[in-house]
Amino acid sequence: MSTQDPFLNTYGERPLTLVRGSGRRVLDDQGRWYLDAICGIAVNALGHEHPRILAAIAEQSGKLLHTSNLYHVPVQRELAQALVALYDAGGVFLCNSGAEANESALKLARKYHYKRGAPRAEILVAEHAFHGRTLAMVTLTGRDKYQEGYHPLPPGVRVVPDDQMASEISEATCAVFLEPVRGEGGCLPFPDLQGVRDACDAHGALLVYDEIQCGLGRTGTLRVQPEPDIRALAKALGGGLPLGAMVAAPHLADVFGPGDHGSTFGGNPVACAAGLAFLQVLAEEGLEQRCTELGALLRERLEALGVPVVGQGLMLAAQVEASAPLIQHMREVSGVLVCPAGPNAVRFLPAFNSTEAEIHEMADALGAALLAARAATSGR
Ligand code: PLP
Repeated sequence: MSTQDPFLNTYGERPLTLVRGSGRRVLDDQGRWYLDAICGIAVNALGHEHPRILAAIAEQSGKLLHTSNLYHVPVQRELAQALVALYDAGGVFLCNSGAEANESALKLARKYHYKRGAPRAEILVAEHAFHGRTLAMVTLTGRDKYQEGYHPLPPGVRVVPDDQMASEISEATCAVFLEPVRGEGGCLPFPDLQGVRDACDAHGALLVYDEIQCGLGRTGTLRVQPEPDIRALAKALGGGLPLGAMVAAPHLADVFGPGDHGSTFGGNPVACAAGLAFLQVLAEEGLEQRCTELGALLRERLEALGVPVVGQGLMLAAQVEASAPLIQHMREVSGVLVCPAGPNAVRFLPAFNSTEAEIHEMADALGAALLAARAATSGR
């Protein structure tokens, strides 16, 4: 067998090989447990091995794994109904990932104007955004780092500074795509969603929230206000399985017709069962309120370390001089996994059901890393 790395080199060097997860911890192939404060980049919102998620997966996989979307499957309909009820929506398109949820939102927005007899091309996006890795979504992401070498990109996308977003919306605008809190951009809340909503209404443009990272309660709010026309969801929705959803407001329910969009795997029955279990636990345990409480504790602890903290709920970034050595120290010395949000931010995306002791452990790990970094600098 070849010893050469079998992967294309998209992820660079990966520091750990993980073999198991339990609660909020993951185990590596050397037998060391780590506290997981990344949650698979905001996916494992109930931690690992949650009994309700596992039971739902076991039950559905014992019945039916896949049918395509040529037929109905009860669990898929139940999940769609749960999302419609949660957001008072007109309908849902189920897919497998965040990028696909955004793609379907983009297609719905373009089709909406087309069907009204006045097609609109312009899509406005925010600075520091991240919307995914398909060609259309790197275009909406609007940053050279993600676009270099991939030109020509689809036309019609314009990046607008936050404070000019509302005034740039016009009769030419098809849709505005916004993350209410920007994840990859450094846990940066968008400052004036209401201003953008009002301008969209005034000019007939659609407002799309990309809630793929910040949604489903992580910021302390299940249903971000003001209401958008479309919400794109993924990550936490599948409880650890690949699942995305594009949730459309009632006035968009009849825009797509048969054959306008689709996916072979979208709404996979096992992923839907896990998604339904996730939504049930979220509601039963009032976990978005828990995100607010635990987020306040984590913020207080991080601020006490003397670093500025940006974000909302359990989506926080500590702004630092250089994130990479701190993240390495936290992993190697304290056994705590976090990720960067650019070169100057350490991002925390803990599970919604984390304990207070675990939140302290995360903050202590950053404190130890900062101390070590300061000691190294003063010793130079
Ligand atoms: N949108 C946001 C806000 C994200 O954070 C991500 C992924 O990190 C995506 C879209 C893309 O999601 P996926 O990687 O599932 O395609």
